[in-house]
Amino acid sequence: MSEHHQDVPIAVRVRQLEERVTGAGLVTDADLDGVLSRLYADASPVNGARMVARAWADPAYRQRLLADGNAAAAEFGFGGADGLSYRLAVVANEPGLHNLIVCTLCSCYPVSLLGPSPSWYKSLAYRSRAVREPATVLSEFGLTLPEGTQIAVWDASAESRYMVLPLRPAGTGHLSEVGLAALVTRNGLIGTASV
Ligand code: FE
Repeated sequence: MSEHHQDVPIAVRVRQLEERVTGAGLVTDADLDGVLSRLYADASPVNGARMVARAWADPAYRQRLLADGNAAAAEFGFGGADGLSYRLAVVANEPGLHNLIVCTLCSCYPVSLLGPSPSWYKSLAYRSRAVREPATVLSEFGLTLPEGTQIAVWDASAESRYMVLPLRPAGTGHLSEVGLAALVTRNGLIGTASV
């Protein structure tokens, strides 16, 4: 491992990498700052929640969302003029079918729609156990699915990322799209909560 000590704080290692790429003239500090501020300024689970709420309220949007997640995100302007930088597949929960997303390799995640990923999403424990024992993992999140529910686990990659479309809760027929969006949580979009 030569000089690559595991105990060097991640921020220091990131800064060293930044200095290498700026020193080589590949990018400037201003370029890097711009990328980060564009990434995080609008990145929030409110975005994913708005897409879910529209899908609940508008069957035609739901169809478009499931057919082409990128186009459905672009209808809201998410991802900016160039759209999302990854292929988005939206997977719908159904009675008897629950979806869960993970990146077994690292931490790929639709940041622009769900906000920065939680630390547990990046943990080795979640990445390995979500695939091996998803029902146990869900129960640890406090989610117990009806008997006989199948769990589909979707493994993201740098190019292809997933978002869960939760089931619309009962008793929400009176709610507006804004009211519906307020029900949707980040964990619901990951699949570790029901909504
Ligand atoms: Fe990853």
